[in-house]
Amino acid sequence: MSDTERSNLYIEKLSKLIKKETVSEPGQTDKTKFYEFHDLLRSCFPAVFETCELEDFDGSILLRWRGKNGSKSPVMLMNHHDVVSPGQGWKHDPFSACIEDGIMFSRGVLDNKGGLCCMLQAAEELIESGFTPEGDIYFESACTEETDGAGADAISKELQKRGIRFSLVLDEGGMIMSEPLPGAKGLFAMIGVAEKGNADLKFIARSQGGHASTPGKNTPLVRLGKFMAAVEKSNIFTSEVSPVVVEMFRRIAPHTDGPLKVVFANTDKLKLLLKKVLPAVSATAGAMLRTTLAFTMAKGSDAHNVIPQEAYVIGNMRFSHHQTGKGSIEAVRKFASKFDIETEVLNPGFESAVSDFNSPAFKIIEKAVNECFPGVVTSPYMMTGCSDCRFMSRVSDSCFRFTPFVIDSAQLETIHGKDENVAVENLVPAVDFYKYVISHS
Ligand SMILES: [Zn+2]
Repeated sequence: MSDTERSNLYIEKLSKLIKKETVSEPGQTDKTKFYEFHDLLRSCFPAVFETCELEDFDGSILLRWRGKNGSKSPVMLMNHHDVVSPGQGWKHDPFSACIEDGIMFSRGVLDNKGGLCCMLQAAEELIESGFTPEGDIYFESACTEETDGAGADAISKELQKRGIRFSLVLDEGGMIMSEPLPGAKGLFAMIGVAEKGNADLKFIARSQGGHASTPGKNTPLVRLGKFMAAVEKSNIFTSEVSPVVVEMFRRIAPHTDGPLKVVFANTDKLKLLLKKVLPAVSATAGAMLRTTLAFTMAKGSDAHNVIPQEAYVIGNMRFSHHQTGKGSIEAVRKFASKFDIETEVLNPGFESAVSDFNSPAFKIIEKAVNECFPGVVTSPYMMTGCSDCRFMSRVSDSCFRFTPFVIDSAQLETIHGKDENVAVENLVPAVDFYKYVISHS
C-alpha cells in the first residue's frame, strides 16, 4: 500500500471514531455510548479484536495480545477514548472530522482518538502480516480519563492483583514540538517521565455575617481576596530543579541560540541558574520546579445585600515530587491560617513515580522516534498535566507519556479548547512509530 493509500485509510478510520461522540462527565453511569464506541473499534480493527482477549471494566477496555514467550515481561500501550465537551465557538462541527488544507478539526483528534487509532492500526497491520510479539502486549483504553480516572484505576489494581509487571507502559503525553523552550531550533519529542499530583482544596472564611449596610473590616470575601493575591505574590512552595529538568536542558539547550545557551554553558551552576531563569521563561517551565495552586471556583452569600457567614474558594493544586502532596497541603494550610482561613482537603490526589530516562524502555521510545521522525531530538520532561498513566506506577517502573504527532504551540492550546486539530500527514509515521515499539519491545 502506498503512503497516500495508507493515509486515506487511516483518515477514514479516525473519522469514524471522531464522529461517535464520547464526551465523559463526572458521575456518568450510563455507559451506552462507550459500548457503541467499542463496537466501532471492533469494526475498524477486526484482526485486533479477533486476536486479543478483551476485558471490560465498566466501559474501559483492556486487550491482551498473547506473545510467543510467556517468560518475557509484557508491555502496555494505552490511549483513552472519552473526550471533554467541545464547548462553543468552533469554526467546524466538532464531531464532523472536517479536513481543511490537510488539517483535521474535531474534538478528540489530539486528545486522544488520534493516538488510539494509530496504536490499534499498528497492531492490526502487524497481525495481518503474521507477526506475533515475543512477550504479551496489552492495549488499554479508558472512558474515564477526562473525569476521575476510575477505569485506569480499576484496571491497574486488577493487574497488580494478578502480579503482572510491565517492562514498558506508554500512554498519551508530550508530542513532537518546535520550541519547547524559547529559542530552541528544530523539532523535539517530549517524552513525559512523570506527572505532578493533582489535589483539590477548599479554603473557607467565616464571620458573624450581617447586613451589607454596616460592614466591618476583613469580611470573609475580603480575607479570601487578600489570601489569593498573597498566594500569587509569595513563594509558599519550595522550588527544586529535578534531574529530569536538568536532563531536559542538557538535551535541548545545545539547539538554542538565546540566553538558555549561556545557562547551559555553566553546567556546574546549572541548577542554581535554572531555578532563577525557569520561572521567567514561561509559566509551564516554572511549574516544573514547584507545586502550583490555581483558584477555580468561589462562593459568597446568597443575596446581594448579605455579608456571608461563610465564603469559600476552591483551589486546584498540582504538587511537585520533592515537596509531595502532604507537604504542599501543609504549606498552604499554614499560609491560609494567617488570613483566618480554614483549609479543607476535598481530594488529596497522588503523584506518579518518576521513571528512568536511562532505562531500556525509554531507549525503545527514543529509537522509535529516531526511526520514524528522522532529525527529531528526544528529551524527557516532567508533565504538568495529568494522565491515566499515573495509575500504572503500580504495575511498572517504566511509565512514559508520549503521542507521536508533530504539533505547534497553537495546536497544543486547542486541546480541551475549541478547534482542536492535527495535520493528517501525522497518521502514517504515528502508525509506524507504534509498530516499531510493539515489534522491538
Ligand atoms: Zn487525554
